[in-house]
Amino acid sequence: MSGGPRPVVLATGNAHKVDEVGDILGPGWVVSAQDPDVEETGTTFEENALLKARAVCEATGDLAVADDSGIEIDALDRRPGIHSARWTEESDWIPRVLRELDGVTGEGRSGRYVAAAAAVWPDGREVVVRGVVEGHVPDAPRGSGGFGYDPIFVPAEGDGRTFAEMGADEKHALSHRGRAFRALVEHLG
Ligand code: IMP
Repeated sequence: MSGGPRPVVLATGNAHKVDEVGDILGPGWVVSAQDPDVEETGTTFEENALLKARAVCEATGDLAVADDSGIEIDALDRRPGIHSARWTEESDWIPRVLRELDGVTGEGRSGRYVAAAAAVWPDGREVVVRGVVEGHVPDAPRGSGGFGYDPIFVPAEGDGRTFAEMGADEKHALSHRGRAFRALVEHLG
């Protein structure tokens, strides 16, 4: 294809997501960011991803993409789920999960990261896809890479390291966001 990298606007105020989506989409795309400034009133990851992409598509008049993501922990009845970013103070995300899982062993510590990735075009077309990575919460945080809950998430398909102990490419190969955006890009034409 000619014409060089294609621009796409990611509806987020989270710089980590911009870096990750830029890495995942690769050199064929230039990812810029715009904060959607919209209330996440949806009841699913998909609804919230669409709300964010629609807001930025409307504001810019361009194709917009968004993700809505979070961690579901089985022993916590799949919380924090869609409320992952707002569940508690950011500095307390990891301590709170570990406190709530105190005394929970084995299978009880299982969970998953989920990401819905949405694209909205100015002509009204919309696509939303989901990426999931199963895993578990270790007894203590490990590693300093990634962001958010990464020091307490061990992907089942990995080698026992947390996402925060992996390089970015290793994380994206397995991650919910990697899976969601690799599927979404197939729809971007
Ligand atoms: P969102 O901006 O509403 O999608 O919030 C997603 C929240 O889920 C983030 O702020 C993190 O707390 C958590 N989260 C989602 N994806 C990841 C990830 O890849 N690593 C670590 N935490 C994540």
